[in-house]
Amino acid sequence: MAAGFDLPSGLYVDRSLSDDEMWSAFAYLFSTKSVNDTSYKFGFLKAILDNLYNVDDDLTLTFNQLFSKFAEIYWNLVLKHHLLQKNPGKTNRRSKLETVLYAAKERYQIEDSIPFESISPEMKIYVCHNVKQNCKQNVVGALYADLQKYFYSFDKAGEWIKINPQMYEFVCKHKVAIEKINYYEWAKFLEKVNEDRVLDHLLSKLDETTLHTRSSLAYYRDILFNEFENKCFYCGKPVFRGSVDVDHFIPWSFIKDDNLWNFVLSCPDCNSRKSDKLADEIFLDRLEERNNVLIECRKIDPMKQLNKVRRIYDWAKKNGYNEIWTPEKRLIHG
Ligand SMILES: [Zn+2]
Repeated sequence: MAAGFDLPSGLYVDRSLSDDEMWSAFAYLFSTKSVNDTSYKFGFLKAILDNLYNVDDDLTLTFNQLFSKFAEIYWNLVLKHHLLQKNPGKTNRRSKLETVLYAAKERYQIEDSIPFESISPEMKIYVCHNVKQNCKQNVVGALYADLQKYFYSFDKAGEWIKINPQMYEFVCKHKVAIEKINYYEWAKFLEKVNEDRVLDHLLSKLDETTLHTRSSLAYYRDILFNEFENKCFYCGKPVFRGSVDVDHFIPWSFIKDDNLWNFVLSCPDCNSRKSDKLADEIFLDRLEERNNVLIECRKIDPMKQLNKVRRIYDWAKKNGYNEIWTPEKRLIHG
């Protein structure tokens, strides 16, 4: 068992940390010195990375937020792609997590190939709750200890983690690099415990563990449509319900999460041209104004979302999203 897994709570190291110290904490986590017989630490780190911009003002994340992502990630890896997350050994034993997922699948009689985003809301809640109840014991304290107690404080009874502000800045700045190393080491682990036949396109399978759905985008589209004039956010061209895209202002590939403050209505043309790029900063100003309106009509929780976009925009630039897009002039109608 990994060190620290049985701690009921823990506090992060509260002193000034150098970048070298923070990098070496991750180097240790990804080294062979950090021993684990399951892939949990990779999955839980990924769940935190995918939730980085969902923190409260005091950088707190709840177990519900974290284990919802965790459950989604593992549902797709274990049930959809049949990737073992633990060496079954001679006794052929599954990890607790795999047992919970297979039990849920049987309870609801779902086929293996159904991705998490396609199961019913009721089933999602059931799966997330059971994954949380069964995995929180072994996961939260282990990652805490493996990262030298730098990353977060946690409390299992209260069901929260609180991220160290220094580490928060560090991880936001290096998010893409940390995520890639995490995938690489996770893939190495999976190669050890799985048979060749399930390892095809392994890195793509890991990278696609969290997906956003068409139906959830329709939900955001309707809110935006009802609240604003029906114009493309970028070029101003009129858009209609049947021919409008919901664009992730900061690319989804960076945020890996769907949030109303990051969605704008866009004509299909602008949406496809913008693709995975950042929009010019003038649109950042416009988005902040737009979000202020959403805060006023209480579609967005001001405590959670205010002033976040600008910081994330800057972090995205630092993480390699430095191609800036602007719609063609002739399309702009103001
Ligand atoms: Zn447009």
